[in-house]
Amino acid sequence: MAKDVEVQRRLAISRVPINKQDPELRKKNWDEVFLGFDLDAAKTEAMRCIQCPTAPCQQACPVHNDIPGAFKLLEDGDVFAAAEKFRETSNLPELCGRLCPQERLCEGECVVAFAIRPDSHQEPPVTIGKLEAFVTDYQRRNGGMPIVVVPEPSGFNVAIVGAGPAGLAVAEELAKQGHACTMYDAWPEPGGVLLYGIPNFKLSKDVLQDKLKYLDRLNVKFVGNTWIGKDVTIDDLFAQGFHAVFVGTGASLGGKLSVPGENLTGIFAATEFLVRGNLRPDQLPEHMRDGLQVGEDVVVIGGGDTSMDCVRTAVRLGAKRVTCVYRRTESEMLGRTEERNHAREEGVDFQFLTIPLHFIGNDDGHVTGVECQQMELGEPDESGRRRPIPIPHSEFIIPADSVAIAIGYNADPIIKDAAPGVQTNRWNLVEVDKSTFMTSRPGVFAGGDNVNGADLVVTALADGRRAATAIHEYLDSLPPPNLRR
Ligand SMILES: Cc1cc2nc3c(=O)[nH]c(=O)nc-3n(C[C@H](O)[C@H](O)[C@H](O)COP(=O)(O)OP(=O)(O)OC[C@H]3O[C@@H](n4cnc5c(N)ncnc54)[C@H](O)[C@@H]3O)c2cc1C
Repeated sequence: MAKDVEVQRRLAISRVPINKQDPELRKKNWDEVFLGFDLDAAKTEAMRCIQCPTAPCQQACPVHNDIPGAFKLLEDGDVFAAAEKFRETSNLPELCGRLCPQERLCEGECVVAFAIRPDSHQEPPVTIGKLEAFVTDYQRRNGGMPIVVVPEPSGFNVAIVGAGPAGLAVAEELAKQGHACTMYDAWPEPGGVLLYGIPNFKLSKDVLQDKLKYLDRLNVKFVGNTWIGKDVTIDDLFAQGFHAVFVGTGASLGGKLSVPGENLTGIFAATEFLVRGNLRPDQLPEHMRDGLQVGEDVVVIGGGDTSMDCVRTAVRLGAKRVTCVYRRTESEMLGRTEERNHAREEGVDFQFLTIPLHFIGNDDGHVTGVECQQMELGEPDESGRRRPIPIPHSEFIIPADSVAIAIGYNADPIIKDAAPGVQTNRWNLVEVDKSTFMTSRPGVFAGGDNVNGADLVVTALADGRRAATAIHEYLDSLPPPNLRR
């Protein structure tokens, strides 16, 4: 720990503000909301870190980034080394810096926020996530990335099913060991939810594209438009000569409301709404390539981060009135406050304590409104949150030209057909030995949202890294392959 006087000097530095796009401007574009730091501002913010030896921020990070170590390097002006410090433990630091809910991970534990200053003045935690994004972006944009060295081939072939954060981390870690990796995905391009879900205003896609180019230089192959379970099975993959398979298929099945009228046109599952709103037609399967005409009134059902992504996408698609319908109050909402604030700043309306009863359609079968009912909160349910109870005779209609349903994601039961012998539980999540990430079928590993349920980019990434270590050890235990590629 720096000496007391040094700690006080650091605590006296106020948090450096981060510039954002003005809401009126950003409603009309798809660029990221945060404009980021410049170098001097980043160094000043890094100086707010008091370099505490226990580093609770590092403990709270699912991949245990050495945050104080990186910030010391940044403060000393060695930005590339700071970026490399994050890359030692994370495959996607520029993405995690943008997407992690830092307030409940690293920043939630930052000692600076709990420090008592002489003038009793309270300061927020160090802006860890945005500094992580800054140093790693700076490194990429200023020629600081190390030269890619392709290792000697090991002769082992690994199939990776699902090219989301878990699969990308497995591919990178195994390719660095010389194993030949092929990623398969049902979508046309790799990235998983990073591409097919998270909107551009939260994550500029050039960040992901740089990572994919890096994997390409490591000779990682990608095969798109391929459903494991429909087009190919895991048995087929072994028959084709793969020595191990990693299943990182996520939890991509959008929850359904099961209320009358859900099949009307103009009602979308959140993912379809987001990808059609955010991606170029050539990045989508043929049946999703028509432009999304959302009309003037858009209703989004659900109160998590996906719902905020949908309402803000609707704003950018030109909707005049966008309403988020949520069955509890704001205090019970699970998503990030920052995202809700962004939505509010962009003019989104929140209709709390409300459930949809049924959808109303016109003669053409297109949605025109949502009949809703007002709720009140009762006793806590099994999640610990107060249960919403309907208020009799409180029905009302919200006009809607389009609706997005964003009430959560589940794992796809297709995994049972894709991978005979792989044990799943009643939520269709894959069961793994948490120390080896091996499933009940030897040579088949799994990790990310298809094991944990819908979670975070960083937890999928952490799983992928640990699974890659286990797969490498497993391959090491096999007889050496005859054919080296
Ligand atoms: C709209 C949205 C916004 C989100 N925002 C955030 C955020 O801001 N911050 C955050 O930390 N997390 C966020 N998340 C959660 C995060 O994206 C996921 O936790 C993370 O992507 C999980 O990674 P994964 O690799 O396990 O799965 P995924 O990213 O879901 O990737 C799985 C891949 O497997 C493919 N696949 C599935 N089944 C098959 C099959 N049978 N055959 C072939 N391929 C298959 C899918 O097409 C997909 O590409 C968000 C999620 C959504 C949906």
